[in-house]
Amino acid sequence: MIDFKEIDSNGEIWELFARDFLKEIGFYIESSVDRGPDGKKDLIVSEHLKGNLGNYKFSWLVSCKHFANRKSSNSVKEEDEPNILERVKDFKCDGFIGFYSTVPSSGLNTRLNSLKNNGDIKDYRVFDYKSIENYLITIGYTELLMRYFPKSYRTIKPLHQVFNKYLSLECKHCHKDLLKRIYEYEYTGLIAFVYDYKKTENEKGEEISYEIIDDVYWACKDGCDARIDYVKHTLNKDTAWEDIGDLVMPAHFVKWVLSVMNGIENGTSKYTPDAYKKLKYFIMAISQKVMREMTEKERERFKTLMELGL
Ligand SMILES: [Zn+2]
Repeated sequence: MIDFKEIDSNGEIWELFARDFLKEIGFYIESSVDRGPDGKKDLIVSEHLKGNLGNYKFSWLVSCKHFANRKSSNSVKEEDEPNILERVKDFKCDGFIGFYSTVPSSGLNTRLNSLKNNGDIKDYRVFDYKSIENYLITIGYTELLMRYFPKSYRTIKPLHQVFNKYLSLECKHCHKDLLKRIYEYEYTGLIAFVYDYKKTENEKGEEISYEIIDDVYWACKDGCDARIDYVKHTLNKDTAWEDIGDLVMPAHFVKWVLSVMNGIENGTSKYTPDAYKKLKYFIMAISQKVMREMTEKERERFKTLMELGL
C-alpha cells in the first residue's frame, strides 16, 4: 500500500520522518546523536511509563534504516546494526528501537532478543514497514502521510478525522474493525438489515406492504456473517445487505443514504429505535472513509456551530 520508495535512499528524510512519526505517536524527542563513522544519526526519544508508585522515564535509542530502495536483500541485518549494546549504553538509554522501511532479518531479531533476555537492554521494539503502515492508514496520521508519502496518500485514501474521536466499525461476530480491514481487501465487510414484511391498508382500503427493520448490524463477509445470518433465519427473519466496499465510494454512499431516506419518507421502511440508532452510527463511521479531512478553520467553525446549537 504505502510505497516507502517515495522517500529517497540517502536516509536523511527517513530520519526526519522517524522523528515526526515517533513524536506523533507520543514519544518525547530528546536529541539526535552521531552514530559513528557512517555519518548517520541515531535518535534518542523518551516516554513516561506508569509504575505502581509513580511515573518514570524510559529512554530509547532509535536506529533508522531506510533500505526500501535496495533492489535485493533489503532486510536489516545484524551487520547493519553494529554495537547495539554500546550505542544504548553510551547514551544512557534503556531500550532500543529499530525504525525500518523494510524488515529486520531473523539474525537481527535473535540478537535483539538475546540482548533483552540477558538483561543487557531493558527492552526493544521494531517498527517495520508493516507496523508503520498500520499507523499511517489509521485516523489522525493523514498529515504525516501527506507530507512524506504524497503519492501513496492519493491512492490509499486513509481514514479521516471527522468527529472528535475515531468511530470503529467492529464486526458483530469477531469484533475486528471493518474500516481497517478495507485496507486488506475492499470487499471484506457488509451491513445487514434484519426485517419482517408487514401488510396494511391505506386510506383507500388498498393493501400496502412495508418492512419493519428491527436490527442493523455489520460483519465480515466470510464466516462471521454466515454465522449471524443462520441465527436470524432460525428466528424467521429476512436479511438484506450492502457491501461496505461499495458504500465507501462517494457517489454510491450518497445514493444509498438517499434511498434509505426515501424508504423512511414513503413509509416502506420502519425502523425500531435501536436499529435506527445503529444505522446512524454506521453512516457516521463510514463517513470517516468517504469524506475528506477537515481543515483547522473548518474545525473551528464546526465548534462554533455546535456551541450555537446549529
Ligand atoms: Zn468478523
